[in-house]
Amino acid sequence: MDTSPQRIFDLLPNLSTKDRELISRACDFAQKAHNGQLRKSGEPYYNHVFATGVNLAQLKMDADTIAAGIMHDVLEDTDITEAEMTKAFGEHITKLVQGVTKLGKLRYSGVERHVESLRKFFVAMADDIRVVVIKLCDRLHNIQTLQYVSPEKQHRIALETIEIHARLADRLGMGRLKAELEDAAFPYVYPQEYHETLEIFKTLRPISDEQLEKVVAKLEEELSIFDVHIERIDSRIKHLYSLWQKLKRYRMDLNKIYDIIALRIIVPTPSDCYQALGVIHGLYRPVPGRFKDYIAVPKPNGYRSLHTTIFSGDGTTLEIQIRTREMHDEAEYGIASHLAYKEIGKNLSETEIRRRLGWTKDLIEWQKDVEHHQEFMKNLRTDFFEKRVFVLTPKGDVIDLPEGSTPIDFAYAVHSDIGDHIAGVKVNGKMSPLDTKLQNRDVVEIDVKESAFPKRKWLDFTRTTLAKRKIRQYIREHGGLLDKFLTR
Ligand code: MN
Repeated sequence: MDTSPQRIFDLLPNLSTKDRELISRACDFAQKAHNGQLRKSGEPYYNHVFATGVNLAQLKMDADTIAAGIMHDVLEDTDITEAEMTKAFGEHITKLVQGVTKLGKLRYSGVERHVESLRKFFVAMADDIRVVVIKLCDRLHNIQTLQYVSPEKQHRIALETIEIHARLADRLGMGRLKAELEDAAFPYVYPQEYHETLEIFKTLRPISDEQLEKVVAKLEEELSIFDVHIERIDSRIKHLYSLWQKLKRYRMDLNKIYDIIALRIIVPTPSDCYQALGVIHGLYRPVPGRFKDYIAVPKPNGYRSLHTTIFSGDGTTLEIQIRTREMHDEAEYGIASHLAYKEIGKNLSETEIRRRLGWTKDLIEWQKDVEHHQEFMKNLRTDFFEKRVFVLTPKGDVIDLPEGSTPIDFAYAVHSDIGDHIAGVKVNGKMSPLDTKLQNRDVVEIDVKESAFPKRKWLDFTRTTLAKRKIRQYIREHGGLLDKFLTR
């Protein structure tokens, strides 16, 4: 494996000398720190962290993030201390590495109702959204080298990748990363379905290469007659995992799947998109009901494009996607396209920020005027998560609660049987009162006794409707009288 920093520089031709120097230093630092350590594959450990750096460079992330990505396992897996890293690289980069280390301790235990919480937790715990991006790039290399890990671990890691990492990438609008994570994890989680889908995929000939070329040539000619400038036309093939998802949705009926191959046309401006669409519909008959205007109405994760499906003239159909360069970068790189190098420090208007915030519905509420990028990311995080706390069960499951919640809310969120029989509570290993206000990252352990039962006064320090309802229900069913005599 070529691990020279030049590989990263080649991906980012606009790097300044200072940034190149930073990345080279990070490479040296990590290489020395991991010296002698091997991956399960037998390769030097450094190959993994360097590959993470390359993944980040492919997303065009800034030099600080790439440097942190190259050093992301140094604090966890080597003797280097935080103080030493801070001395060599400053507080900012060290913070990014610490953030990645913290996220590494979380485990997905397969409890479906906790998945969404865990995803939010991921973002909330990262003090900077770039930490999440580093973690996703780290995971991408791990999942691509999963064959060297034991079979039990393979399944857990791959499932976690599909449930947590890929969906997070999707939420952040990072379409390409999402596809790569899913396709790498797919064979480990659903081996049989993977092989079936692969077989189907091989037999698919939705449109011949010859016909595709004919359509492209015709489009180029006609669009130029109408003076629509084309920056690029290329075709993309649906990735395997998403093909399987679609097959499932349509009960394995291939005829219902129109977008196995799609043509992508990149044009300079949004109005060119509509003009190109008009030209295409004049040239080929569109399949009814297949036109979608995601420019006027973007998808919840911010995706923008025009989609249409045409009858290509030889009995087959073909999906065409039309978008600008900016829309394309956003669809491929999502949040990363905003964190990208050139944009750091660039002032964005409020309208622009709002539009970009379209990537998740919860964030549309976000109202503050922000001056520059760093501030923007900070506010983004705190406003989104301000009113929630994320606490952990002793097993590491994440419970998502409103701010001001107490161990009683926690207990009912885990299970009503636990709430109904709280005898005592430990927060971070210490006995604590029932009205303790829980903080992010607290580990909460409930002592349960059959003889214990809810008290009316608990209603004064519960936050969640669920807990209040369950307490009232218990009191109603077991008699208020008992409660009156036994209230301590
Ligand atoms: Mn790693």
